[in-house]
Amino acid sequence: MEILDGKLVAQAVKEKLKKETEQRAKNGKKIPHLAAVLIGNNGASETYVASKVKSCSEIGFKSTLIRLSEDISESQLLNKLNELNEDFDVDGILVQLPLPKHISEEKIIETIFPSKDVDGFHPESVGRMVQGLPTFYPATPYGILLLLEHYKIETKGKHAVVIGRSNIVGRPISIMLSKNEYPGNCTVTVCHSHTPNLKEICLQADIIIAALGKPEFLKADMVKPGSVVVDVGITRIEDSTKKSGFTIKGDVDFQAVSPKCSYITPVPGGVGPMTIAALMMNTFKACLAKDLA
Ligand code: NAD
Repeated sequence: MEILDGKLVAQAVKEKLKKETEQRAKNGKKIPHLAAVLIGNNGASETYVASKVKSCSEIGFKSTLIRLSEDISESQLLNKLNELNEDFDVDGILVQLPLPKHISEEKIIETIFPSKDVDGFHPESVGRMVQGLPTFYPATPYGILLLLEHYKIETKGKHAVVIGRSNIVGRPISIMLSKNEYPGNCTVTVCHSHTPNLKEICLQADIIIAALGKPEFLKADMVKPGSVVVDVGITRIEDSTKKSGFTIKGDVDFQAVSPKCSYITPVPGGVGPMTIAALMMNTFKACLAKDLA
């Protein structure tokens, strides 16, 4: 069994971007600039946004963190996004989800210009992704592809089982893995909360992407020997022995499942860092597109 080390690969991606960014600076070209919008003070969201801003500074990107209060109105937030849309210096905009209940996620996602949609959630980005046109891939699935690619995992003709069908992970990764290119050309089965025979389906999988948000859901008796297991899940479990007060669990029972796998991602240190690396790639691409405009 080999670990798919997301931390290591994310670092390599960021190093490469750093070199390219330094080169841009030397050539007097624009430096990528990410604007991150954080609403309220949800602990997990704070952590994610802080890592994204930190990655920007490590690479040499500019970043702007916009903190807004939990009770900001939807129209105030839309105005802020329109300002960022119009700001030439800003290349990528991300609004950290989830949003407070009184704000429509759909409206927020649709307001961000597709040219700055580095999270890849805008319907135009999704439509282009489905049709195989150049676009921003959603960061988590894109990070998974980069990881599979780095370890040269064979995907052609393999049966990939995706557990979860959310717009940010399950659905996009299922489309991306079925595309006629590497990493892809898989036969994909998408499972969800209404799939009755999940265990039988998982046992047929060469590649399993677990993205359902249920800690240690995937057990050893659901996995075929030699399979590749990618664990997307991140759930905070109360743990008084930890300084933070919680421990992070993935969707895979790592201890029991890992001995059966050819490759597996750990949690933490697997898909999480790759998501950030992919976001950085998208931000770089958004900036690059302005060279050609
Ligand atoms: P979600 O709640 O939007 O979707 C969960 C999906 O799982 C749903 O489609 C549901 O049908 C399916 N599901 C739920 N219970 C199931 C069951 N018993 N059997 C089969 N399918 C079931 O979640 P999400 O936003 O896609 O996130 C999933 C997990 O991935 C969460 O733990 C989240 O924190 C994590 N996540 C991690 C990253 C990362 O960077 N590593 C990024 C995004 C999400």
